[in-house]
Amino acid sequence: MISVGLARQTILAHIRTLPGELVPLTEVMGRYLSEDIIADFAIPLWDNSAMDGYAVRLTDTAAIPARLPVTQVIPAGSTSQPLQPGSAARIMTGAPIPQGAEAVVMREDTHELGEYVEIKRAPKKDENIRFKGEDISLGSVVLKRGTLLGPSQIGILASLRRSQVPCARRPVIAVLSTGDEVVDLDQPLTPGKIPSSNSYTLVSLVKELGAVPLYVGIARDNRADIENKLAAAAKADLILTSGGVSVGDFDLIKDVMTSGENRMEFWQVAMKPGKPLAFGFTGSIPTIGLPGNPASAMVSFYQFARPAILSLLGANVICLPSLKARLITPIKKKADRPHYIRGLLTGGEDLRVQASGAQGSGILSSMAAANCFIVIPKEQELAQAGELVDCEVFGAILPEHSSS
Ligand code: AMP
Ligand code: MG
Repeated sequence: MISVGLARQTILAHIRTLPGELVPLTEVMGRYLSEDIIADFAIPLWDNSAMDGYAVRLTDTAAIPARLPVTQVIPAGSTSQPLQPGSAARIMTGAPIPQGAEAVVMREDTHELGEYVEIKRAPKKDENIRFKGEDISLGSVVLKRGTLLGPSQIGILASLRRSQVPCARRPVIAVLSTGDEVVDLDQPLTPGKIPSSNSYTLVSLVKELGAVPLYVGIARDNRADIENKLAAAAKADLILTSGGVSVGDFDLIKDVMTSGENRMEFWQVAMKPGKPLAFGFTGSIPTIGLPGNPASAMVSFYQFARPAILSLLGANVICLPSLKARLITPIKKKADRPHYIRGLLTGGEDLRVQASGAQGSGILSSMAAANCFIVIPKEQELAQAGELVDCEVFGAILPEHSSS
């Protein structure tokens, strides 16, 4: 049995980031950059006004009120003429600052008198001027390789006129469920059978990361069927199986992983839930054998499959964010393995957390109510109320009043 850290490290050591491809800007939401983005021009492109107002020279507004002739009007989208000494230019937000102007006085601080303007407040140097390159300077690395592209990053790419963006290819992740008792939703639920919830959670988890699920179905608990179904995963970048990886008579994933061209790197991880976990290769495809219990499968996905998929994508953050929160109700455990408790984290002045429900490895309702894993280390037997505990966050943190 190996530690969570070593298990993850071993898996990641076998994962190579996929090559990039050019993707239209309209399609890059949720994708990862495969190259640094270097600004090939400055943003803003030229000095421009942050306000509707009057562009002036400071010497002309030293004595207040100052009455100045308005010698030009500069709408956004136009160009400007140099500002004549002793005059003002009416300027709109986003319009280019005329050469020689040192500040823009906002319209609210002026009084308009036909062809003249009275400046009622002396501006400071550079006031209301947005300078060339103040947002993004020419030649700077504005977005790093491995960045997840969301609305603001896409806005920057648009500002830089990148209509095609280098993104990591989306990995294809095969999902195989196993179990003689497990049936898909269109099959009769005869006595002894259960619906394959893992098929749906795992496919959804894959989708959530921006990878492409390749669902290959449910294998019966026999080697031939498992191998047969795995054959359909030949084009995948990673295979996830669920079930059949424990010590039961019909747990055959390990057998398949150790036969023929396949190879198993490790089996069993010191954690609860999620101890039965195998990692190896189906042919040359990295394969993670997740536990069958629905909550265990999800915990193990978050600990091992998620970082592997994000690593295929070249993401620069691959583990769940971790933070400390104050425990509301105590947690008792054996000093055997680290526990990953499904938890509900609430915000406010002090982050607080508590178990989100019963922790049996088959219980999915507490997973559905959770937004984090409370991680209690191996040796610890009791986490007291009020103690600060580590939480690995995977869902939105709720506001304080929603905690019970
Ligand atoms: P196993 O590791 O195959 O013994 O499975 C452990 C537990 O998880 C058993 O109770 C299974 O019925 C259950 N299980 C396995 N696969 C699935 C699945 N695809 N959906 C829901 N439960 C499952
Ligand atoms: Mg099984």
